[in-house]
Amino acid sequence: MTEVSFKNFNLFDGETDKVTENSWLTVDQDTGKIVDMGTGKAPEDAVDFQGKYIMPGLMNCHTHIVADPTQGSGGSNTNETEIAVRAVDSLRTLLKSGVTYIRECGSAYDVDITFNRMSREGKLKKVPHILPSGGAFSMTGGHGDMPNMGTLVDSPDAMRHEIRVGLKKGIKAVKLIATGGVMTEGDDMPSTQLSVEEMRTAVVESHHQGVPVGAHAEGNLGIMNALEAGVDSIEHGFYVNDEEADMMVKNGTYLTPTLTAAWGVGVLAKGKIPEWETKKMEVALEDGFANIKNAWKKGVKVTLGTDAGTPFNDFTLTPVELELMVEHEDATPFEALRTSWNAAELMKVSNEYGSLKVGKYADFLVLDDNPLENIKAVQQEDKQVYLSGARQF
Ligand SMILES: [Zn+2]
Ligand SMILES: [Zn+2]
Repeated sequence: MTEVSFKNFNLFDGETDKVTENSWLTVDQDTGKIVDMGTGKAPEDAVDFQGKYIMPGLMNCHTHIVADPTQGSGGSNTNETEIAVRAVDSLRTLLKSGVTYIRECGSAYDVDITFNRMSREGKLKKVPHILPSGGAFSMTGGHGDMPNMGTLVDSPDAMRHEIRVGLKKGIKAVKLIATGGVMTEGDDMPSTQLSVEEMRTAVVESHHQGVPVGAHAEGNLGIMNALEAGVDSIEHGFYVNDEEADMMVKNGTYLTPTLTAAWGVGVLAKGKIPEWETKKMEVALEDGFANIKNAWKKGVKVTLGTDAGTPFNDFTLTPVELELMVEHEDATPFEALRTSWNAAELMKVSNEYGSLKVGKYADFLVLDDNPLENIKAVQQEDKQVYLSGARQF
């Protein structure tokens, strides 16, 4: 067993609202896991972090690595080679920004499934860990019916078959489209899409294999349909109301607000993309912030996810999502950072990822400032990023 130790840092472990000064930890370089940690006198030859702050790498549970955020359409209407090159670039940018694990939430050409395998085999390096979804499951003509992206299903039987096909191919997460969305012209956020029966079938089949199910759901009817179907997470949920929030608390359903997606289109994009897109989002933005805040206050478990890849929502913005939570949702820095841990739980990987404890992977960030005091500390451009105790950036 070869080991490497790090010393003289302030530790935020990701689970508790405190920083432990003068910490050290030791990583087994064969497994990449933390084998020992403590405070005070560190093991010999430990790397000296000189009083910097260490926190867990971020878990982003909603990405589209195949999408091009500079194109209003997402840019999926191209061949597999271009998409694959783009996706590698997206992954590297995510990792550099501090994201060490993603859940892809609707991919193209099953690029995420292939990359997950290649990364595990050591053939694709310097990328975050990947929970692949394959294509999002959508009704024909629905929000997921985009070139080369959606898996189209129009009955419970078709859903059962396609989910089984996906699981066989290696998807580790399922993404359902319960309502319309922003990027597809012709449908809108309140319109319902997949039926309760179709989604329930997906949930049953996925849960047989322990695979979490997330539903893109913006309008109320669709959110309720998804909740009735028993999904594990509501993605976006901009219009979430009291009744739905209560149901989510009762059932332990997670909420991924993807604030940077709304903020990107509503604030960053003005004058740069078709008006129908910014208009849709402008209306949603303020309402959305308030609705999410209400659900959060009621005790819904909020997860960290950005919808990276959607227009003006590039792969650097995960730390900005945390800032938006503090600025617009009344979250404390700890509550915002805690959404990363919630994402690890939703993704069912929290036994090995998402916090820094003995027995977990040494995926961490090294920052100049204390993120529990200033959430913007996570945005540091030249932060150090480690996977399994090895520096990546
Ligand atoms: Zn969506
Ligand atoms: Zn999405």
